[in-house]
Amino acid sequence: MHRGRYAGGVETPLTIYNTATRREEQFRVAVPGRARGYVCGLTPQDHPHVGHARVYVVFDVFRRLLEYLGIGTTLVINFTDIDDKIIDRARKEYGDRVVAKWYDVPRRYIEEYFEVMDALNVKRADHYPRVTEYVDKMVKWIEDLVERGYAYVAPDGSVYFDVFRVPRYGELSGQRVEELIAGARVEPEPGKRNPLDFALWKSWAPLEPWWNSPWCPGRPGWHLECVVMSSTLLGVPFDFHGGGQDLMFPHHENEVAIARVYFGVDYFARYWMHVGYLTIGGEKMSKSLGNIVTVREVLGRYMGEEVRLALLSAHYRKPLDFSTELLDAQRPIVDALYSAYDQLVQALNDARDNGIDRDAEMAKALDNYVEAFEEALLDDLKAHVAVGKLYEYARHLIASVIPAAERLSKAVLARALEDLLAMADVLGLVMYRDLPREVVDFVSGMVEYRSTLRRERRFDVADTLRALLERFGVRLFDYGPITRWSLDRRTARWMA
Ligand SMILES: [Zn+2]
Repeated sequence: MHRGRYAGGVETPLTIYNTATRREEQFRVAVPGRARGYVCGLTPQDHPHVGHARVYVVFDVFRRLLEYLGIGTTLVINFTDIDDKIIDRARKEYGDRVVAKWYDVPRRYIEEYFEVMDALNVKRADHYPRVTEYVDKMVKWIEDLVERGYAYVAPDGSVYFDVFRVPRYGELSGQRVEELIAGARVEPEPGKRNPLDFALWKSWAPLEPWWNSPWCPGRPGWHLECVVMSSTLLGVPFDFHGGGQDLMFPHHENEVAIARVYFGVDYFARYWMHVGYLTIGGEKMSKSLGNIVTVREVLGRYMGEEVRLALLSAHYRKPLDFSTELLDAQRPIVDALYSAYDQLVQALNDARDNGIDRDAEMAKALDNYVEAFEEALLDDLKAHVAVGKLYEYARHLIASVIPAAERLSKAVLARALEDLLAMADVLGLVMYRDLPREVVDFVSGMVEYRSTLRRERRFDVADTLRALLERFGVRLFDYGPITRWSLDRRTARWMA
């Protein structure tokens, strides 16, 4: 069992695939006791969609797993709150008032990001840096890069990074410079020395917000932004850097290139993690196909936990095809988890201290599930396998432990509950744990009344009561004379 067993050194029991080395590696932290990571955040120019949600849910599970082991985490997720797409959007909405009003666009979608991430039970990061807060610092970096000959100023005042000055450019994404050049469309950007060079500073155009710089008014380039924000907040090298697979090239390659010359380090983050594509009906989501599914829209129809489970239903590095069928398939898992939880809490309340000899056997069976669950996550974060183990565990509780609860000790039931919640927490599930006191009292009273009816052999009235309770989302489970119950959390949310 690994829960809370991290010994405090640089070694962890976790294996993770590192894009930079193309292998699964033992995850070692640079500073004992803490894992520091950066995940590339949104460009808040439209509603967050389920592809975004997949990335943040995956890294949320990664972070929760580290904490489950006993390792502290510092997580940074940025907002790219100035960008061509934001400006385009603001121009469409505000016309010639764009310079005064443009920030309403990122503000609105950042707000929505927090709203949907909270509903998905994604823990808040420790820092949410915004590009617009770091422009002065970015200008200083560019000055330094120009002075040291790694960047050059184009006639229009834009500043480009010189990719040829970087040792082993293309290594992260596994490409050779010659191939990249052959593959790159030579764009008619007059200031660039070679098509792979990229802007560190973009010169201003009419109807655009701008910041001052020694070269011309303008704004920083995307790749530079993430290096400056991550290294400022986390130090160099930090432990993991992640994002969607689409960011591997050119974004992350270019981040690595900048940091390689700026800091003189091979990689400014030790592990590079990329989350696979999310598709809809086998196709990439895109505005032109009109198949973008927003998180808000899905959350209107499904519980946060069902959406989370759907997003975790394939290994994070593999593609995931998102659909209504996939979402529907998660409901039995959510129901089993709450059913096991509710019934176990009730059994524990009724339990006595005197254990019996079946305790040890029962505890061992439960431990096997926990071990299989941990093993799956420690092996390159196989959350989809871990979900399966947790589901099996919940069904085992329902089928074998809860019916036998009368004969088990308080300790073994308490342990079963603790393990259930610890595993659910790593995956961010069973979030609507507590039911309002009056709901518990009401349902308990009804269940008690039904037991009286059954004792009096008034079975038809008892059955009517059961049917009535079921319509309110209360499911009853009879174990001889004892009845346990569970409340559907969709109903619970409506009652609360
Ligand atoms: Zn980034």
